[in-house]
Amino acid sequence: MRLTTLLSDLLGLKYTRVRSCSFIDDGLVVDVAPTWRTARCSGCGHNCAGYDRLKGRRWRHLDLAGMRWYLRYDTRRVDCPRCGVVVEHVPWADVGSWFTRPFEDQIGYLAQRCDKTTVRKLMRVAWATVGDIIQRVVKRHQRGDLLDGLTHIGVDELSYRRHHEYVTVVVDHDTQRIVWAKRGKNAVTLKAFFDECGTDRVAKLEAVTIDMSAAYIKAVTEASPQAQIIFDRFHVQRLAHDALDQVRRAEAREADTVEDRKAIKGTRWPLLRRAWNLRDLEICKLSTLTRANRRLFRAYLLKESLAGILDRRQVHVARRKLDEWIGWAFRSQLAPFRRLAATIRNHKDGIIAYVQSRLSNGRTEALNGKARTITRRSYGLHSASALIALLKLCCSGIDLVPITLRPGSTH
Ligand SMILES: [Zn+2]
Repeated sequence: MRLTTLLSDLLGLKYTRVRSCSFIDDGLVVDVAPTWRTARCSGCGHNCAGYDRLKGRRWRHLDLAGMRWYLRYDTRRVDCPRCGVVVEHVPWADVGSWFTRPFEDQIGYLAQRCDKTTVRKLMRVAWATVGDIIQRVVKRHQRGDLLDGLTHIGVDELSYRRHHEYVTVVVDHDTQRIVWAKRGKNAVTLKAFFDECGTDRVAKLEAVTIDMSAAYIKAVTEASPQAQIIFDRFHVQRLAHDALDQVRRAEAREADTVEDRKAIKGTRWPLLRRAWNLRDLEICKLSTLTRANRRLFRAYLLKESLAGILDRRQVHVARRKLDEWIGWAFRSQLAPFRRLAATIRNHKDGIIAYVQSRLSNGRTEALNGKARTITRRSYGLHSASALIALLKLCCSGIDLVPITLRPGSTH
C-alpha cells in the first residue's frame, strides 16, 4: 500500500487527497488538496476562477497515537460573481476554522459530557478556542427549526460573569429543551424571540411561564396576547422568602435584650425551609420563636401558607385561599409582606393559572440546574454567544457520536 493511500484512509476525509507528509516539531503535517480541480466559492459553492494562493494554511486534525496531526494546503482565493473575493471552500473544514470537522465534532461530543479541564487537556486546546468551535458544531448539527411547533414555553434568565450579565432563555415545556437564548433580560430581548418566531408560530402559543418582571409581562402581552401568562411558582415563593428575610433582619436590628437577639439568631435557614423539611433541632428553634418573636413567627406562617396555597389542586379553593392570604398579609403589620400582598394582588390571575396548569419553570428544574452548571463551566469563554452555543449544544437535543476511525469512510 502506498503511504499516501494509507494516510488518506487514516484521515478518512471525503473529497480530500493526500499528496505527501512530513514531521514537524510537535506533530505530523499532511499536505492535502480537494479532489476537485477548479476552486469553489466558500460562500455559495460555485466553481470560480482562482485568484491567488495563501501559502501553508494549516488545520488541526484529530491526534494520531498521541501525536498532533495537521493538514496543510495552500488555499486559493476566488473571485465569485455573487460573493466577491473570498477564500475557496475546502472539504475538511468550515470557513474561518483552524480545525477539521472531525476534530470540532469530537470537542462538541466531549463538551456535552465533560468538564472544562478534561476537554482542554484531552484535546490540547485553549478553552476560549472551544467557545468558537462549539458555535460551529451547533450550527452544523442543529436539526430542524427549534422554534417550530411550540405551544407551552418557559422564559427564564440566567446570570453569568458573577451576576453582571444575563442571558434570557426560552424552554419548550413539552420537549424539555432550550429552544432559544439571547443576551440581556429586558422586554426588547424577549421581543426578539417573538420576532424570530414570526406571527404564525406566535399565534400557536398557548401558555408562557415567566417571573413577575414587568419587562417579560410587557413583551408577552404585546406579542402574544392569546397566550396565557403563568407566573412561575418558585419565583413567587422566592419573593415570600425575601420578605421573610427582611422581617428577620429588621427584628434582629431592633432586638433590645440579649434574649430577644438569641431567639432570632440561627433562624435564617430553618425559617426558609418548608415545614415538612425541618430537622428536629430546627423545629425546636422555631417553636421558641412562637413565644419569643411573634412578628417573625407571623412572617414565617405567611410564607408557609403561601406555599401551601400553591400546592393546592382545586382552582376555586386556591383562589379563595389566596384572597384570604392577601387580606391577612395586609393586616399583618409587616411592611415587606404588605408590599408582597400588593404584588400578588396585581398578579393574581397568573398565579392562579399555575394551580390550573401546574406549569412552572421549576418543572424544567433539571434542565435549569444543567444550564446553571454549564453557565459556571462557561467561565472563561469570552462571549455571550459562546455561552449560548454551549447551552444549545448541551440542552437542545443535539446528538453527537464519538469519532471512531473507520478507514475508507468519512468520520
Ligand atoms: Zn460565491
